[in-house]
Amino acid sequence: MSVVRGAAAEASPTSAQRGPTTPEAGDASATTNTISGVAGQAINLENEHIAHTYSPLPVVVASAEGAWVTDVDGRRYLDCLAAYSAVNFGHGHPLLVDAAKKQLDRVTLTSRAFHNDQLGPFVTALARLAGKDMVIPMNTGAEAVESGIKLARAWGYRVKGVAANLANIIVADGNFHGRTTTIVSFSDDPTATTDFGPFTPGFRSVPYGDAAAIEAAIDENTVAVLLEPIQGEAGIIVPPAAYLPAVREITTRNNVLFIADEIQSGLGRTGATFQCDNVGVVPDLYLLGKALGGGIVPVSAVVGNVDVVGVLHSGEHGSTFGGNPLAAAVGRAVISLLETGEYQQRSRVMGERLTTGLERLVGCGVVAVRSAGLWAGIDIDPALASGRGVCELLMSRGVLAKDTHGSTIRFAPPIVISAEDIDFAVDQLEAVLRELRA
Ligand SMILES: *Cc1c(COP(=O)(O)O)cnc(C)c1O
Repeated sequence: MSVVRGAAAEASPTSAQRGPTTPEAGDASATTNTISGVAGQAINLENEHIAHTYSPLPVVVASAEGAWVTDVDGRRYLDCLAAYSAVNFGHGHPLLVDAAKKQLDRVTLTSRAFHNDQLGPFVTALARLAGKDMVIPMNTGAEAVESGIKLARAWGYRVKGVAANLANIIVADGNFHGRTTTIVSFSDDPTATTDFGPFTPGFRSVPYGDAAAIEAAIDENTVAVLLEPIQGEAGIIVPPAAYLPAVREITTRNNVLFIADEIQSGLGRTGATFQCDNVGVVPDLYLLGKALGGGIVPVSAVVGNVDVVGVLHSGEHGSTFGGNPLAAAVGRAVISLLETGEYQQRSRVMGERLTTGLERLVGCGVVAVRSAGLWAGIDIDPALASGRGVCELLMSRGVLAKDTHGSTIRFAPPIVISAEDIDFAVDQLEAVLRELRA
């Protein structure tokens, strides 16, 4: 298999070394232990002592810059996953790396037993960005979701007046909110739940995109509706335009909190600071993560107003690493990027280019494309190949993407991606589909 250089690739000065990692890379039946050389050794070493909870593509990344990663053999790949949107601002963004390096030399961890001089500016900037009063700083996305659940329950008992231990939270079928035992308790994905029970009670799941189903599920003990404004892991499922505004109206009227899990959809991915902005909705709580850490450190947060977040008292919630000075310094630098509006704008413009390119492929091996900003779910004709098979072939052509369910793949490149590189990604997908149809 030779290095592929399409016309669009030639247009980019970074195209010289794109290409296949191994002869087997495009073969869906290839297993990692058939790969030789430095990459094979690295994969075998990892596989021997790591829990096998992932099935990574057989590429071993050694370095990265902007929208591109380089493997241990010096081959370059366009990153069309961006670590599930944790790398929205690109690999090694100079401003973010600089903020991290400066803070590394000052102080990295104090715990919340003491104050640190980075946390105040961070929570101030984040509250302002979200138009809210207060922040609960955590680390991973799942922790932000857990914090939102605890907060909603406490609000339910202390403010709404729900009787002890009776609170319920409404969620949506097909949701993905993380991997903790409470969070998988309301997942309908058998892979996420099988053999992990018993589960946490207090959740009701209704069809996604159906506001009437939410209203029907609300009772006097309902404290919150928890939703992804766009379901990412489910395949970039964009609900009807009227859905989130209707959810806002229903939750307000029923004295129920509306919690928007913007961990993947927020912070520029959809061409806005929050996907909720795109539909003119303001939730009671934003759950943020992924890109908030700039791809450098895990940073997550719950952001809301004092009437809700203020119900928690000293000692009731916390995290050893939450709000640490390194995370706060990086998070604040991320917010400074978003405050310019430049990335949201770029996400819209590049997203339009990506969507236009992908829509060209509908009927040529692509069944449907769903998109918002620079985020696209692409349904491949299942008769042609699995999503995984397509991702392996894309990898052999210098594009890294990830399948979600069955035959859906997603493109979510760093927002710093160039127009030429967007065209390159689409051209490679087109070539893969042509290959599969031949
Ligand atoms: C990734 C994700 C999470 C979980 O974040 P982790 O950092 O992996 O714990 C929660 N909600 C959504 C919508 C996500 O995409």
